[in-house]
Amino acid sequence: MAPLKVTKILCIGAGYVGGPTCAVIALKCPHIKVTIVDLNQARIDAWNSPDFKLPIYEPGLEDVVRQCRGRNLFFSTDVEKGIQDAELIFVSVNTPTKKSGVGAGFAADLNYVELATRQIAAVATSSKIVVEKSTVPCRTAESMRTILEANSKPNCRFDILSNPEFLAEGTAISDLFNPDRVLIGSLQTPEGKAACAALKGVYANWVKEEQILTVGLWSSELSKLAANAMLAQRISSVNALSAICEATGANIDEVANAVGYDSRVGPKFLKASVGFGGSCFQKDILNLVYLSESLHLPEVAAYWRQVVEMNEYQKRRFSKRVVDTLFNTITGKRIAVLGFAFKADTGDTRESAAITLIRDFQSERALVNIYDPQVNEAQIWADLQEASPGIPLESIKKQVTIHKSALDACRDAEAVVIATEWKEFKEIAWEEVYKYMKKPAFVFDGRLLVDAERLGAIGFKVTTIGRSALL
Ligand code: NAD
Repeated sequence: MAPLKVTKILCIGAGYVGGPTCAVIALKCPHIKVTIVDLNQARIDAWNSPDFKLPIYEPGLEDVVRQCRGRNLFFSTDVEKGIQDAELIFVSVNTPTKKSGVGAGFAADLNYVELATRQIAAVATSSKIVVEKSTVPCRTAESMRTILEANSKPNCRFDILSNPEFLAEGTAISDLFNPDRVLIGSLQTPEGKAACAALKGVYANWVKEEQILTVGLWSSELSKLAANAMLAQRISSVNALSAICEATGANIDEVANAVGYDSRVGPKFLKASVGFGGSCFQKDILNLVYLSESLHLPEVAAYWRQVVEMNEYQKRRFSKRVVDTLFNTITGKRIAVLGFAFKADTGDTRESAAITLIRDFQSERALVNIYDPQVNEAQIWADLQEASPGIPLESIKKQVTIHKSALDACRDAEAVVIATEWKEFKEIAWEEVYKYMKKPAFVFDGRLLVDAERLGAIGFKVTTIGRSALL
């Protein structure tokens, strides 16, 4: 069966994955018309904004959208028209962890995937290749196929592919330009293989053939969960070692460097921190835990659960270290939290460690000043309110202030907590900050970002993840 040469692509979901991924496809494939749809009108308006105030911040994204928007890249809320026109449809909707019901706290909420799938079946009047872009539990493609086949019109056939996304927020555009690999899973039938070849033909416009891996559907789905679980496991491993370093006088940077020199381990992703965040790591591991339990593999579930528990422990340990160092009480003390995003170079705050730290400081009745270069105020208030259910926003606002610069946030503070590794925090005029802070002035570096010796020479008392306070 000759592979289809794709000329019209639709992406359902204009979020952190669908937006950048399909914008890059439009850039690299000028012969393909790419439409990205979303139910969220405000998000689509932002993607279409005349001054390119896009709904998400990613270095390089604006440039890509400027080159393609209106040429072969379109953003719309008209999901039905998008489905009708397309030959290939990416489903890139959110798959959060279930908040209530069976499997709450662990299982993926597949409601959005199912709704998008039902919509495709209801609207499509011609055959489509449907591509799972969202991260989903193993064998979700089977459920999608059942829904599509049960609801399709005569002469409509649907081929389902899995094509999980491996981009990291903050480096999404360079990851998409130069991916380590593109993974495509398909059924090993002639039709499945032809659909796979059609999608491969899209990526082949800029990705080398040997970097496009084609595998079975279930392997592809599981590989995405496995990749995130193993990345998070690396962070939890190095964070577990950081606790031993703090207690013994070993230095986690030196230990991680020495370990990473072993070519079997490798140097990447071995940075200790206050804990991982983001919408994916925790959710995908919990998904794996749920899958393992459903498959009656409790020991496997326990193994992966521990990665998340270590992450929670790391955040708690850091908050406690702040309180202990500030003479066992932070009541009424002003603490400047620098960074609110879950990592640098993104405005995304989902599962950000900063939220947990601030909630801990609030519960100890500290006064908290916040500064982040990308996260807007409305988002910060929404996150803080969600983190403290039952506490009115007005009460939270009595304890928390949002500032427009790092220097302002640090004024009159007793301690600065670095929660996100924004490069600008490295380059702050720390001598100025020192002048404006109460003394003794403490810095807690949760990201191994600043030069502790230099800050120490200015007069700060610096506490760093993975280093003993005594050194
Ligand atoms: P997101 O919440 O930013 O975007 C999802 C979008 O889908 C939302 O704007 C929502 O309004 C829209 N949507 C939901 N149902 C819809 C429907 N029926 N029709 C039209 N629009 C609909 O989520 P995201 O961060 O882009 O993640 C999407 C998927 O990709 C998730 O499964 C996630 O696990 C996975 N993923 C995310 C990342 C990441 O770094 N964020 C990386 C790799 C994979």
